[in-house]
Amino acid sequence: MRIDCPCCGPRDHDEFAYGGDASRTMPDIADTGMERWFDHVFLRDNPRGPHREFWHHAHGCRQWLVVERDTVTHEIAHVAFARGEVSR
Ligand SMILES: [Zn+2]
Repeated sequence: MRIDCPCCGPRDHDEFAYGGDASRTMPDIADTGMERWFDHVFLRDNPRGPHREFWHHAHGCRQWLVVERDTVTHEIAHVAFARGEVSR
């Protein structure tokens, strides 16, 4: 799989580190509901198909990216800098 970094161009995925699901949102910081926090911290979906993910170009420009990738085919539809994304 190759990721087209907006800064460096197409690079092998070995240069990147997966950073998690970019579609998740953190509960409000004032929310004291343990079940919501448990879900947010420990439970992960295993989606099939299109998925928004954070990837860190650890062995390149060191930028955080949002990659829209199909988890079945590994086809990448879109890559953008994560700046401005809510990365909670
Ligand atoms: Zn890069």
